[in-house]
Formats: sequence, structure tokens, C-alpha cells
Amino acid sequence: MIITCVCGKYEFEVNKKELPKEGRNVQCGVCNEKWFQTPFEKKGKISSPNTTHYFAYSFLILLIAISFVGVMETFREDLVYHFPKIDQYYKFIENISQNILDELNYLFRSFRL
Ligand SMILES: [Zn+2]
Repeated sequence: MIITCVCGKYEFEVNKKELPKEGRNVQCGVCNEKWFQTPFEKKGKISSPNTTHYFAYSFLILLIAISFVGVMETFREDLVYHFPKIDQYYKFIENISQNILDELNYLFRSFRL
């Protein structure tokens, strides 16, 4: 954990094991100020990192998926020429994108009515 000197100018990384629950006297190595430091828990950070990670990972996966589809589209002719079976993949992707477009159309239409 990071503690701040009473002078307010310096921060120190302290191993949690070195700081007992009841606290202890510490000294700033720079300005030699002494104070009593008790351990503390970081506030409001119990559940937020998980949600942040969840969104970050979802975004990352979406980004990878989009770039993958983009790369596959770029080399479509070459790939189909060399691996005719890969055409199945393109039909699959076309089906999915068509479905998404249909769903979006349906969604927008239901908003308009
Ligand atoms: Zn200090």
C-alpha cells in the first residue's frame, strides 16, 4: 500500500506485512518527519475493477473479432482460391451479418411505429 508523509510531498510504498493492524510509528526518509501510521483499505474499489475489466475485455474481444473479419474480407478472393472450403466461413459470416441487419431493421421499425 502507498502511504503519504505528513509533509504531503512524498509517498512511500509500504509492505502491508510491515504495518500491524494497530499501526506503528513511521519516519519519512526524506524530511525525517515522524507520524503514526495505521493500515487502511482502499475505498470504493471492491467491485469496480471487475466491471472495468469486463468492459475492457469485451471491447478487446469485439475489436479482435472486427479486425479478424476485416482481414478475412481483405484476402477473401485469395483465400477462397487457395482454400475453397473457406467459402463456408464466408457464408456463415454473411448469414450472421444479414441476421444482425435484419434485427436492426426490425428494431428501428418498431421504434418508428
Ligand atoms: Zn516527508
